[in-house]
Amino acid sequence: MRFDAVVIGAGFAGSVAARTLAEKGKKVLIIEKLKHLAGHCHDCRNESGIMTHTYGPHIFHTNYQDVWDFLNRFSEFRLYQHKVLSYVEGNFVPFPINRDTIKNIFDENISVNQMEAFFKTEVRNSSFQNPPQNFRDVVVSQVGERIYDLFYKNYTIKQWQVDPEELSTELANRIPIRSNRDYRYFTDRYQGIPKIGYTKLVEKIVDHQNISVLLNADYFDYKMDLQADQIVYTGELDRYFDYKYGKLEYRSLKLEFTTEKQEWYQPSAVVNYPNDYDWTRITEFKHMTGEISNTTTLCYEYPKSTGEPYYIVMNQRNINLRQKYWEEAQKDKHVIFIGRLAQYQYFNMDQVIKEVFLKLQALEK
Ligand SMILES: Cc1cc2nc3c(=O)[nH]c(=O)nc-3n(C[C@H](O)[C@H](O)[C@H](O)COP(=O)(O)OP(=O)(O)OC[C@H]3O[C@@H](n4cnc5c(N)ncnc54)[C@H](O)[C@@H]3O)c2cc1C
Repeated sequence: MRFDAVVIGAGFAGSVAARTLAEKGKKVLIIEKLKHLAGHCHDCRNESGIMTHTYGPHIFHTNYQDVWDFLNRFSEFRLYQHKVLSYVEGNFVPFPINRDTIKNIFDENISVNQMEAFFKTEVRNSSFQNPPQNFRDVVVSQVGERIYDLFYKNYTIKQWQVDPEELSTELANRIPIRSNRDYRYFTDRYQGIPKIGYTKLVEKIVDHQNISVLLNADYFDYKMDLQADQIVYTGELDRYFDYKYGKLEYRSLKLEFTTEKQEWYQPSAVVNYPNDYDWTRITEFKHMTGEISNTTTLCYEYPKSTGEPYYIVMNQRNINLRQKYWEEAQKDKHVIFIGRLAQYQYFNMDQVIKEVFLKLQALEK
């Protein structure tokens, strides 16, 4: 079969790439190994009628005007500002750490203006390598050992099952710390949840006369039969090259969904459990979607090392391996690699969509 373009994967990277090419008049086939659209952003209603996110909670947030405008062509968004609490020493406290977290945990009557001085004293009383060499160093150099021990250390060990001193500095650079009383987890200009849900949103993106979709089909089983001028690959980078340099590592998650016969379970959509229990966090979806029901569905997350590829593992081995594959990936101009798996990079949804825009624009030059 011949198409102008074959897109491998129907997550945000694949679906947005397909739509962009289709609107330029290209005949596109999307091939997706799962039985559903939307990749890791898939959502669906459970037997209690509550919308749940199959692969863990997804909150859309962006500062990219073009990405926001693009998605709003297909769905309105419920304007939701994500808030996360951390369960620490028996209290639910704001996370990322802000002035109220410090006030609650250390019982310090501290003003917003005193926060900087507070952190400076905490850091001065801590030991770490400077310049920071690993995850622990980065966090301790910003907030000191006491806060690191309460909020970051055990959560990181649960999440990655390695000593935080073996994790790269880049992982910690993603963690925001606030001096003010801002409770929001993200501070992007646009935030929300698609009113129709992510899966329906992706269904609408791929609903175009030039797009055909083949679900439940692995590209590598059909590769020889599929001819196209342009291949857009959004699957795992190492798999494309048959793992010839070795396997890139991922962390995975066991997700346990339960439905409780009560209206609400916890005070915010996500509560982190850095030190207690075996799960890392509990999500209560209704906070995000605004649904009204007498029951509520929760999702408990237990990190594990095998299974669905969820999070890339940023250690030196994987960084080097990725570099080798990435050099290979640049050689064949008619195949472009886009997305979280294909670029082996931690991307939020908006960053993936922005990558698609930039990479497809670059092709035209
Ligand atoms: C637990 C968790 C929570 C997250 N929360 C947020 C959040 O709150 N906000 C946010 O912006 N981002 C969040 N993200 C990130 C978000 O999930 C990604 O940015 C997004 O899913 C990436 O889209 P993608 O298309 O690159 O990858 P994917 O969604 O993984 O899509 C790739 C698709 O390719 C398919 N595929 C792979 N190989 C083949 C093959 N050989 N043949 C056919 N199909 C194939 C896969 O089945 C998959 O459907 C979260 C991620 C995780 C893991």
